[in-house]
Amino acid sequence: IRWTEGRGWHDAELVPYAPLSIDPANMTLHYAQTIFEGLKAYRQPDGSVATFRPEANAERFQASARRLAMPELPVETFIAAVDALVSQDKEWVPSQGEQSLYLRPFMFATEVGLGVKPANEYLFMVIASPAGAYFPGGVKPVSVWLSEEYVRAAPGGTGAAKAGGNYAASLVAQAQAIEHGCDQVVWLDAIERRWIEEMGGMNLYFVYGDRIVTPELTGSLLPGITRASLLRIAADLGYEVGEGRISVDDWKNGNADGSLTEVFACGTAAVITPVGSVKSTRADWTVGDGRSGEVTMKLRKALLDIQTGQSPDTHGWMHPLGG
Ligand code: PMP
Repeated sequence: IRWTEGRGWHDAELVPYAPLSIDPANMTLHYAQTIFEGLKAYRQPDGSVATFRPEANAERFQASARRLAMPELPVETFIAAVDALVSQDKEWVPSQGEQSLYLRPFMFATEVGLGVKPANEYLFMVIASPAGAYFPGGVKPVSVWLSEEYVRAAPGGTGAAKAGGNYAASLVAQAQAIEHGCDQVVWLDAIERRWIEEMGGMNLYFVYGDRIVTPELTGSLLPGITRASLLRIAADLGYEVGEGRISVDDWKNGNADGSLTEVFACGTAAVITPVGSVKSTRADWTVGDGRSGEVTMKLRKALLDIQTGQSPDTHGWMHPLGG
C-alpha cells in the first residue's frame, strides 16, 4: 500500500515476493525513516488460523509512525493487509504447537531527494516467513551482558518506537555481548546507567516468589505486546504483578539474598526465555539456580496455550482469519 502527500493511502495490492528497485537517493537509505512490526499467525486445533493481538501491533505501528513523522496507517487497514497475506499463504502456517507464520509489516520513505525532512511518499508492506519453535531442543536459559558502555535509547529519543535505527544502534553492543560469551545484551537507562530497561529484542520480568515486576515504560524502551499480555496473564494466575524500577544492584542483591527467584525475557519471537546468568564489567552472577524457573515456564505455557488455541481466549486476543 502506498501513501502520497495530498492523496493518502492508495494502491493496495497482493503481489508475489520479489526484490524492490530502489533509487540511490531514496531518503530511507540516508535518513532511516523506517518502522516495522512483528507478529505471528498460529494454527488452531480446528485447523483454522488466527493472529495474536494484531490491533496492538497496528496501534504500536501508528505510535512509531507519529514519532518518525510518518503517516499513520489506519488500524483496520493494517489488519486487513495482514489478513490478506495470511489468507494467501495459509498453507505456510505450520500445524505443530509452537510453530507459526511470522509476519513482518513495515513502512519506509520512497521519496527521492537529499533534503532532511519528512518524506512525501511511503510504502507499507507485509512479508511473511514460517517460524519453527524458538527452542527446538527444549527451553534453554540465555546468558546476558549488561551494556554499560552503550545505550540503546535516550529520553526523548526513538526508543519507544519500533524504528530501524534503534536496531542499527544496538548492533555493536550485541556484538560485545557475544564477545563476552553471552547470548544477548541487556540495556540500562541512558542517564544513570543504573536502571534495567530491556533485552536486545525482548522485555524483561523479575520474579520474587509470587511477586512479579517488569521495568516500567520510561519512554526509552519498547512497549512489548508480550510484556503487556503477561501483565494480564500473571494476574489471572494469581500472581502479584506490576511495573517498577529495577536497578542493577537490585538484580545483583536480590540474587545474592535469594529473594529474586527467576528472571525471564519476553517477546513475539521466543514468547518467553529464561535468563540464566549475567555478566558485566563489575560482576558476574547466576540467576536463581541458573535453570528455567517454575513461574517462567508456567507463564510461558499459559501464553502459548492461548496462542495455539489450547486454552480459552478469555481476553479476546486471538484474531481469527475470516472465511
Ligand atoms: N523490545 C525490543 C527492542 C524488541 O525488538 C521487541 C520485539 N518486538 C520487544 C521488546 C518485545 O516486543 P513484543 O512483545 O511486542 O514482540
